[in-house]
Amino acid sequence: MTANCIKGPAGEEGLIFEKSSDGRVGILPPSSDVPRVDPENTLPGRLRSGIDGFPQVSEIDLVRHYTRLSQWNFGLDTGFYPLGSCTMKYNPKVNETVSRLAGFSSIHPYQPEETVQGALELMYELQSYLAEISGMDAVTLQPSAGAHGELCGLLMLAEYFRSKNKKRNKILIPDTAHGTNPASANLAGFKVVPVKSEGKGVLTAGAVKALMDYDTAALMLTNPNTIGLFERNIKEIADIVHKKGGFIYCDGANLNALMGLVNLGSLGVDVVQFNLHKTFSTPHGGGGPGSGPVGVKKALEPFLPVPVIKKTGGKFKLDFNRPKTIGRMKAFYGNFSVMVKAYAYIRRLGAEGLKKASSTAILNANYIKERLKDSYQLAYNEPCMHEAVFSDDMQQKHGVTTMDIAKRLIDYGYHPPTIYFPLVVHGAIMIEPTETESIATLDSFIDAMKAIAEEARNSPELLKNAPSSTRISRVDETRAAREPMLRWKP
Ligand SMILES: *Cc1c(COP(=O)(O)O)cnc(C)c1O
Repeated sequence: MTANCIKGPAGEEGLIFEKSSDGRVGILPPSSDVPRVDPENTLPGRLRSGIDGFPQVSEIDLVRHYTRLSQWNFGLDTGFYPLGSCTMKYNPKVNETVSRLAGFSSIHPYQPEETVQGALELMYELQSYLAEISGMDAVTLQPSAGAHGELCGLLMLAEYFRSKNKKRNKILIPDTAHGTNPASANLAGFKVVPVKSEGKGVLTAGAVKALMDYDTAALMLTNPNTIGLFERNIKEIADIVHKKGGFIYCDGANLNALMGLVNLGSLGVDVVQFNLHKTFSTPHGGGGPGSGPVGVKKALEPFLPVPVIKKTGGKFKLDFNRPKTIGRMKAFYGNFSVMVKAYAYIRRLGAEGLKKASSTAILNANYIKERLKDSYQLAYNEPCMHEAVFSDDMQQKHGVTTMDIAKRLIDYGYHPPTIYFPLVVHGAIMIEPTETESIATLDSFIDAMKAIAEEARNSPELLKNAPSSTRISRVDETRAAREPMLRWKP
């Protein structure tokens, strides 16, 4: 591999190690006038004298290397990213700017409370906004992701039953659930009981009634569910669960479809987690930071993690004195910068704006569903919420699979949708357009999807060999996952 050949997204880029040249450095600081101390005398055996094979490059070598690598990335800022279940919507840059204001970004977690009243006020208000949006009574902002929020909510449920000396062991989870749900239930010490979604992709009261008993702590439901359908029997189901002393846990990761339209509390939900990094304006996909606040009804409030932010006499306080708390979920108070972005986003949109955002997310998904349903098999021919799920049933007779379709979309300049999830749909293609995309973008994407359906009929080899416009075509994904090469060897 040559280090300096073609530039740009399609170009090659050698490893930084291959650009190394002995003695080349990025920065030359003036020589120090502080007497040198022999490290062996101060920290014997503790300091390494050098790093074997460490690249020696100039500043411009380094800048170009990483800038070129960044151009290989696909992101919201470069194109449409319809990754279902992930809500890859555009996050306004102003919210980033706000979160970086020195008053927010330069404070220290151990500062005295009276010097960070503004930060506490922001957290307090954000909690109350989330409570209002979801219809809950209290909210903690501590968990740092959706799955972390699930764990937090389930630990509160476990603690609730423990406090009543009534240990319950089971959690009912529909077969359409996100994989994190059974994992969280297991981690919180519960046994997972799967519930079949028999009613056209949604859960029926009968299925829950047959399984609900006095050893079941909760039903864990995603609404809208992972097929993008609204769980319309939720109220009836909640009544069945409540009658036997259980709770309704709602995985609220898909709240982008509900804001201002659905009050989860009045539908019988007792616990819900919010994915601020999905719905409330934090870019995600690169590994964080995220934030997964949890809202609860009154009965569960005593079990919230500490500290709880309180307002007394116009002052904000961190309350650690909560005898029934499950303890801490996170160091300090959670991922604060994500909270600032969510706060700025909610304040900027207001109640009407949030409602419009959700309505548009639903409209966009239904537009895609309607315009593509003749080219791809719809998993469920029902009005959808924020995402539409298709399968490769129409393409399979040409030997073309969901994977081929996804790979071919890359050639058309789009990030592929979520594929092979949810598991209940064979060869699923799950498209979540979000509210931030214009009709022009949706139309171009639909054109690409239709063109691919046409290619599947007439020239399937184009799909089998896709992507062909990228530096690397199909990789062996299984091997890449099983045998990752994380170290460069000379
Ligand atoms: C994204 C998602 C999660 C997990 O959220 P993380 O922040 O990635 O932990 C859980 N449930 C559903 C339905 C999701 O879409």
